[in-house]
Amino acid sequence: MEVIVIGGGYAGLSTGALLVKKGFKVILLEKKQILGGRAMSFRDDEGFHREYGQHSHRLGEDGPAYAVFRALGEKIEFVEAEYPPGCYYKGKLYPRPDSPMKLLRSPILPFRAGIQAVRVLIKMIRSNPEQWFDKTVKEFYRRHFSPIPEVEDLLDLFSFTIMVPKADYCSAGELIDFLRRALRAKRKAGTPKGGSAQVIGKLHSIITTGGGEVRLGEKVKEIRVKDNQVEGVETDRQSYSARAVVFAAPVRELLELVSPELLPDSLVNFARNLESTSSIILEWITEEPIAQSGLILGMGVPFWAHFPTIEDPSLAPAGKHLSVFCWMMERGKGSDPEHQKESEKKLREHIENLFPKASEKVLDERKIIVPVQNGALLKPKQSRPFRPKIEETGIRGLYLAGDTVSAGGVSGDIAFSSALLVAEKISRDLSL
Ligand SMILES: Cc1cc2nc3c(=O)[nH]c(=O)nc-3n(C[C@H](O)[C@H](O)[C@H](O)COP(=O)(O)OP(=O)(O)OC[C@H]3O[C@@H](n4cnc5c(N)ncnc54)[C@H](O)[C@@H]3O)c2cc1C
Repeated sequence: MEVIVIGGGYAGLSTGALLVKKGFKVILLEKKQILGGRAMSFRDDEGFHREYGQHSHRLGEDGPAYAVFRALGEKIEFVEAEYPPGCYYKGKLYPRPDSPMKLLRSPILPFRAGIQAVRVLIKMIRSNPEQWFDKTVKEFYRRHFSPIPEVEDLLDLFSFTIMVPKADYCSAGELIDFLRRALRAKRKAGTPKGGSAQVIGKLHSIITTGGGEVRLGEKVKEIRVKDNQVEGVETDRQSYSARAVVFAAPVRELLELVSPELLPDSLVNFARNLESTSSIILEWITEEPIAQSGLILGMGVPFWAHFPTIEDPSLAPAGKHLSVFCWMMERGKGSDPEHQKESEKKLREHIENLFPKASEKVLDERKIIVPVQNGALLKPKQSRPFRPKIEETGIRGLYLAGDTVSAGGVSGDIAFSSALLVAEKISRDLSL
């Protein structure tokens, strides 16, 4: 076998598909019985599309997920409906101020704050992200401007667009890079028709129709290494030899498969100290939509809400609607049951405040605890120059992909960008 890919999430499936397309023999091993990793989804018995958290692809046709599909000669079909995004601030819902004109007119910003907010946005877009990866958004702001409280609050909202709910620990370089790209992109976010199943299903099919294999329910137990060269993997079923192995899961889990003594200290330290985001999600089924809104993001509160079936009715049986509400848990407390309870309480309070009595219309509710939402919280020390590079394993033939490695974009985009890098690198290395 030429290449073994460990993991069937966005990163592993994209890497596998890209390598098959380049003519490599690929086997992808996924320990679960279902593909997709954190983007997995399924239809339940009643016909509801159930996703482990809702997924959209930042920057639509201009983003990294679409770039993978373009390289494969395919495309992602996005839903066309566009509902106005909201912003939840001090207990009230407002239109999201996501352009200079909207900043000037927004009721959440007094006139002077609106003017300064536009200047902050312009300053960010004109800045070089490379100079700001290791600083926070708040540091960026205070370096250039005299603080105005409403603008500082607004920076929390800007930071939350890259899933960091607070500006005082969000990497300024990551935000600057995202805003510069978002400004040029035609579509700010693309929601795949039929949910993440479309993306996962297409990647899977490209691998298998191209002669690759995807094996479900097979867990890799060890990556075999000899004389600093990868030899293959041992799974709970059998042994495989391979010229290259791609580890496509959060880098923390690599330490279970390779002895840390074989890996560079920088990688081991990063993996051991990796800080992920975690959240709690409530998914409601109702007969009427709870809101006619695009994504609502909290400003200063780690809350978001999304109403997938108003954009894509195919996600539920006729006459039924899904609403998704999320609360991002405090840093480092995601697995603490007390904190989970407190977070759920706060989440319910904010939903009630935003949509009074909506809970009375709920026909069914699903609660999902998400221990890892984004593999790497985009704080300065985990911004892309500080994350491990795809070949930074110190072992020839062993590569890293996924949303914890050094690749462009935010959230799932990192997984797609990393796949493009890994497929290129393997293609070069194996043809030498
Ligand atoms: C609630 C929620 C909402 C989100 N919303 C968005 C969004 O809107 N947009 C966005 O871009 N991102 C979003 N994300 C983030 C996105 O889901 C992740 O960044 C992305 O799915 C990560 O993909 P990955 O391939 O790097 O890792 P994963 O999805 O974690 O995949 C890793 C895979 O490897 C498998 N694996 C691990 N170890 C082994 C082993 N030893 N042997 C075999 N298999 C193994 C795992 O089972 C898993 O399937 C969201 C995440 C959540 C949880």
